Amino acid sequence: MLQTTKKKMIATKGYAALDANSPLAPFSFQRRSPGPRDVLLEILYCGVCHSDLHQIRNEWGPGIFPMVPGHEIVGRVKKVGDQVKKFSPGDIGAVGCLVDSCRECENCKQGLEQYCYNGPVGTYNSYERDGKTPTYGGYSDRIVVNEDFVLKVPSNLALEAVAPLLCAGITTYSPLRHWKVGKGHKVGVLGLGGLGHMAVKFASAFGAEVTMLSTSPAKEADSKRLGASRFVLTTEPANVKELRGYFDFIIDTVSAPHDYNMYLRMLDTNGVHICVGAPPTPSQFRGMTLIANRRSIAGSSIGGLPETQEMLDFCSAYHIVADVEVIAIKDINAAYERMLKGDVKYRFVIDMSTL
Ligand code: NAP
Ligand code: ZN
Ligand code: ZN
Repeated sequence: MLQTTKKKMIATKGYAALDANSPLAPFSFQRRSPGPRDVLLEILYCGVCHSDLHQIRNEWGPGIFPMVPGHEIVGRVKKVGDQVKKFSPGDIGAVGCLVDSCRECENCKQGLEQYCYNGPVGTYNSYERDGKTPTYGGYSDRIVVNEDFVLKVPSNLALEAVAPLLCAGITTYSPLRHWKVGKGHKVGVLGLGGLGHMAVKFASAFGAEVTMLSTSPAKEADSKRLGASRFVLTTEPANVKELRGYFDFIIDTVSAPHDYNMYLRMLDTNGVHICVGAPPTPSQFRGMTLIANRRSIAGSSIGGLPETQEMLDFCSAYHIVADVEVIAIKDINAAYERMLKGDVKYRFVIDMSTL
């Protein structure tokens, strides 16, 4: 007998990479109808993260294709399941890098879903908890997500400038909070792109003295407008030497291979080099550079759901948003090329009405 209970799927439009060597192109696919605890969002804006580029080009290992990138999503709620409590149609909601996790392991119970021991479900280039349904991201006209993974968006901020907070924002907010960075600390922010400009904004909002460490002389004025008290061009060896032993923390947002040793030497005793940038290839560092001053090198991944909501509420209270350049979806491949050249001020955001 034919199975007649199968739920109707939702036809969805997006942009996808069909394989790791092709540019993004229009792509049609299906999303599930909202279940009892699901929220259907009409996507208004989606930020463009360097992680999108790493993943569509298989720079972090084999991806799941076709791949619809996008994990900085802001949208309007169109429909909710009958058990949804947090949202009603017409509300604004946001989705970051995660759409599910096991919810049972120690990390999930602590709101550290990004470190779920059973593997969090990424917004794209991942499989749902069933282990076989691919997830598709925010370069699309709609998305269906369990309400626990949809964030509330403050009403006093411009929505296109909120979108990048869902990845670039939380990825820099979380480690700064974890290491309790604030007044009295000297912080170096390495790389002025999407993550870097948010790191400057947060570290200075938390009261730290912020130095911008950049390879692009043209970004000096902007770094100061964003909150840095000093700009250091790291391509000049004399500038680098002058900073020996200076920082308490360096937050490293660089997307390409670079010499960690050069920056580790800038740390004071007990200083921490926090990697959030994820270059495709491994790097080497000298044990002796760490030993010499009891320095550490550490990493941090996005943030859990409670902390992401905390970050959005902090941004609302302090009027912090991303500096964005809004683009039409047809320009996405050109935007990637500009991002590769460090030519973005400081986050591209796709206006999804152009799809
Ligand atoms: P982005 O906007 O492209 O910014 C990267 C910046 O790094 C550039 O603007 C440039 O700044 C600097 N840079 C690039 N190549 C460099 C090189 N060879 N040497 C030194 N500096 C260089 O990228 P993004 O979106 O901010 O992402 C940055 C990295 O973070 C990516 O690897 C991404 O995958 C990763 N990421 C990690 C997480 C996480 O959870 N940990 C989350 C999101 C993204 P200057 O011009 O100032 O030098
Ligand atoms: Zn991202
Ligand atoms: Zn878990």
